[in-house]
Amino acid sequence: MRKREVVEFHIGWNACINCGACVAVCPQEPGFISAFDTIAVNTPCDIACMACEKICPVSTITHKKVRDRYETHTA
Ligand code: SF4
Ligand code: SF4
Repeated sequence: MRKREVVEFHIGWNACINCGACVAVCPQEPGFISAFDTIAVNTPCDIACMACEKICPVSTITHKKVRDRYETHTA
């Protein structure tokens, strides 16, 4: 049984200053980005290290937990 959380992120676009910190710190594969060069939004992240949320200088990254059924979504 998998213990790791799966999360999806939301970004407040009005607050985001496009600093690139979230992408720079993220260990996901290179394509895990949004159209605005932030970490991907509304896309399940199965690493869930939360480094992106912690590093954001304007604290505009938030997340929600998603169900395990997303784990095989990219297979
Ligand atoms: S939780 Fe970690 S792996 Fe997932 S998007 Fe944020 S920095 Fe990347
Ligand atoms: S770290 Fe925060 S401010 Fe910087 S690009 Fe990512 S969401 Fe935007």
